[in-house]
Amino acid sequence: MSIHGYPVIDAHAHIMPMRMIKPGPLAEWRKTYGDKVAEIQETLEDPQKLLAHLDREGIDKVVCINYIARDLFGFTEEVHDYVVELCRHAPDRLLPCGSVDPVYSKDLARDTEQLIHHYKIKLLKVHGPHAGYHPDDYLRDKPMLAKFYALAEEAGVPVMVHTGTSIFPGARSKYGHPMAIDDIAIDFPNLKIIMAHGGRPLWMAEAFFLMRRHENVYMDISGIPPKLLLTYFPRIEEIADKTMFGTDWPSPGIPGMRVNAEAVIKLPLSEESKRKILYDTANRLLFAR
Ligand SMILES: [Zn+2]
Repeated sequence: MSIHGYPVIDAHAHIMPMRMIKPGPLAEWRKTYGDKVAEIQETLEDPQKLLAHLDREGIDKVVCINYIARDLFGFTEEVHDYVVELCRHAPDRLLPCGSVDPVYSKDLARDTEQLIHHYKIKLLKVHGPHAGYHPDDYLRDKPMLAKFYALAEEAGVPVMVHTGTSIFPGARSKYGHPMAIDDIAIDFPNLKIIMAHGGRPLWMAEAFFLMRRHENVYMDISGIPPKLLLTYFPRIEEIADKTMFGTDWPSPGIPGMRVNAEAVIKLPLSEESKRKILYDTANRLLFAR
């Protein structure tokens, strides 16, 4: 499968149980999708419908982003049962992502081990702005977060950290500052870290610096309008090996997977860079392990 000859991985799509989202935040989806929300919700619950959607969109593989965000959205540990069951239907195309909850968890090490060894989660998400903590809080009041990173590092499971702002009511964007990752990359040198959204729209210079400074720091470009990609990252070809295409679909305001991939293909980048960004980097880091 390909789009204009390019195979495509969406390394950041919110393939999640929308039924869990509270009415308040769900209103944000209604603003973009109106009465289509029910249809999207069904697509995300039914593996056959989801795979058919990916086929129509020309998307080869997708990373199914899930994380605990109890207070903001209503997402609890239940998201892991959902995503593991869903991905079981096409393990070569659907990759399960989950998270721990450093704010409410009583035993972060046990939760991390369960995700890695019982659920076989392939990517761990850290979402500061939606779950209410700094990714480097192991240096302050959450020492057990160090255990979380150490276990992920030891198991070879990459960690995706939300970087940049979030516009959902109640989201605290200060927790999205990417410089916290500088410490994490130093303290856990073998941990693969993916900066979701490349710090957009405020901290792209920091994100670019971190990718050049740390061998194991990567980014996805989800949530960045493709037409702004080169404005945000004018030297993106230097980091194409560490950059992954992603859409954030079906987050409010996202046009769609195919539309976004086509827009990236139209950018004045070398064919080699486009192949890396659209497929190779994510495939190497997440699917070919
Ligand atoms: Zn996202």
